[in-house]
Amino acid sequence: MKENSPNDAIAALSTSLNDSAISSFFLQEIFNGFEEAVIVTDVNRCVVYINAATEQLFGYSKDELYHQQTKILYADENDFSEQGRKRFNVASRISEENYRIVYRHAKGQQFLGMTTGAAIRNAAGETVGFIGIIRPARSADQSLDALQKIHNITADVNLSHEQKINALLRVGLQHFGLKIAILSQIEGNEYTVENCVDLNGELEPATTFDVTDTYCLHTLSENRTLGFNYVAKSEIKDHPCYEKFALEAYIGSPIRLAGKLYGTINFSSALPVEPFSKDDYILMELLSDTCSFLLYQKVSQAEMTALARVDELTGLPNRRATLERLTELIAQSRRFEQPLSILSIDIDHFKRINDRWGHAAGDLALVKFASVASTLGRQTDFCGRLGGEEFVFVQPGANIACAQALGDKLRDCLALAPIDVGDGELNTLTVSVGIAMLAGDETAESILAHADQAMYRAKQQGRDRVSQ
Ligand code: GH3
Ligand code: MG
Ligand code: MG
Repeated sequence: MKENSPNDAIAALSTSLNDSAISSFFLQEIFNGFEEAVIVTDVNRCVVYINAATEQLFGYSKDELYHQQTKILYADENDFSEQGRKRFNVASRISEENYRIVYRHAKGQQFLGMTTGAAIRNAAGETVGFIGIIRPARSADQSLDALQKIHNITADVNLSHEQKINALLRVGLQHFGLKIAILSQIEGNEYTVENCVDLNGELEPATTFDVTDTYCLHTLSENRTLGFNYVAKSEIKDHPCYEKFALEAYIGSPIRLAGKLYGTINFSSALPVEPFSKDDYILMELLSDTCSFLLYQKVSQAEMTALARVDELTGLPNRRATLERLTELIAQSRRFEQPLSILSIDIDHFKRINDRWGHAAGDLALVKFASVASTLGRQTDFCGRLGGEEFVFVQPGANIACAQALGDKLRDCLALAPIDVGDGELNTLTVSVGIAMLAGDETAESILAHADQAMYRAKQQGRDRVSQ
């Protein structure tokens, strides 16, 4: 039987079942000499049979496991539940499936197991139990497993940046068998824990250290991935960080962002571990590259969002930002029972500027308008560009008289600042302004509509004026 593949053995087992009971005689016959760990359970996932290889791999005797649910063999209870939903239930249609699971040895250490799972059915086709055949993963399998997880995390559009970083830190912890994972940001001598996963539950994000007290100092000074599996027996055993933190195992890499040092990613533990392999170092570099890619993505997204809120030509808040800010200020005014007024501003005969002196002169006029407008008003007032030559001024705390005063002041300032439209020719901008004050249940849209109606009245009345 020894030379049979797991799948042949499962087939043999299924054909040997003539009634609904799993006969231990057949199981002994088939699996006792098997090199891989074999676990047979009833439909409730309670162990009815294990072979000698299982005793060895998991460190339990037959007596300890028989009649127990297989839950105690899993490193993570969630995996046990998930496998129950996915594979090991009476309704499941699985025949033979291969998958990877992190298991737990009786003594506590975790290991990755390559598993073949199947349902055992009797001649009538009813599920009477389940079988799992497990072999411990080799180093290459483990790296492949970590690689696949890293890929799944980065590709998952439902995860936020923070969730992705934390998930990557967990992958590293599990792969290296360590307890503390940190993504640090380093500025000068200050080492800040930006993200962390501490299985001891002690370390918190935003904790700071002096970088010279941390193991990362060595990673940074060598500017490469460094690992110590047993610090007490290493060349850094006299360093203050060992005395301070007494961590025996450490592996860390620098993280660079656009060519500059950002910080480090590192994993550590109070207990020593087996020496790190070549694959471990490669994986560490991959984790560091993935983090720097995610950080780069985060920074560029923040830049894009900022850009999407600022009008490129004038530097004023754009339509979206203006409406958002107006909505916030309306809510605030209502909360504090304060008045709020707005000015809808439209430059008069703007088309003529474009027609007569060209589009560039029109642009210049818009920039000029923005620079004049932004010197006016109080600190809490703001001016945004709604589009074209249409602007809005928002004045929290202002009544309609204040709005009228601001509109007139704007007209005066524009009159004093004519635009050089080329060849020494000057053009003075005039504006039509409509003012409105926040009433009872008004929204951003409705107060804007009121101010717009007032602005059209100003146009009709001859332009270059403030109307309400
Ligand atoms: P009114 O006094 O009735 O407001 O006349 P107007 O010419 O200002 O009104 P209208 O709305 O017809 O014209 C606005 C013009 O503004 C039309 C458009 O070509 C121009 N415009 C819109 N955005 C820009 C811009 O970013 N740059 C330049 N140069 N022109 C723009
Ligand atoms: Mg217009
Ligand atoms: Mg106009």
